[in-house]
Amino acid sequence: MIKWNNIDTVLLDMDGTLLDLNFDNHFWLEFVPRRYAEQNNLSIEQAKRQLIPQFKEMEGKLEWYCLDYWSDVLKLDIAGLKAEISGLISVLPHVMEFLEVLSRSSKQVILVTNAHRASLNLKMGKTCLSPFFDKIISSHDYGVPKETQAFWSQLDNQHTFDKQRTLLIDDSLTVLKSARLYGIQYLISISKPDSQQGKRQIYDFTAIEDFRELMPYLLPVQML
Ligand SMILES: [Mg+2]
Repeated sequence: MIKWNNIDTVLLDMDGTLLDLNFDNHFWLEFVPRRYAEQNNLSIEQAKRQLIPQFKEMEGKLEWYCLDYWSDVLKLDIAGLKAEISGLISVLPHVMEFLEVLSRSSKQVILVTNAHRASLNLKMGKTCLSPFFDKIISSHDYGVPKETQAFWSQLDNQHTFDKQRTLLIDDSLTVLKSARLYGIQYLISISKPDSQQGKRQIYDFTAIEDFRELMPYLLPVQML
């Protein structure tokens, strides 16, 4: 159980934590292959066979999250394509209540995402979540993804936080392991990052299905 009084800083991931990962999964696994197929006179199946191994190979690297990289490699306007289906961008259930409670507390709340700034801006524009954060950090600003120790040390250098009194909530187990290695004390995962997929079994970290599970523990004492 997380003790609210022991936490000064809350670091929140964006995709799959606050926002429904269905948008990104649909975008990369269905929409991009469809457009790539049209552009290259391929069937959708052929396009998927070409693209999905390429995506897998880049997983966890900064390029994977870089719209310019993929626009260049695939010769598609990736930012433009994202904007085309931006209607699918949505906030996961009970995230808003959670962010409201957090913003009434004295905690420092920082969004830490591997998303490219163009994707981040599109998503913040659609969801209006930015006022809830004291700071918004894209790993592209540092040139290294959250999966690396270099990300956490740069964050530590530029934004004062006490890692013993910090909570990170992130759906990526690789990112959580990286943060744990760096010494972030409190770590929580998300068992249902994509509303259209089943719940994942998570063994290495405490996991929540939605933010209601944290509310009783995160409400400031005077509000209970
Ligand atoms: Mg995520």
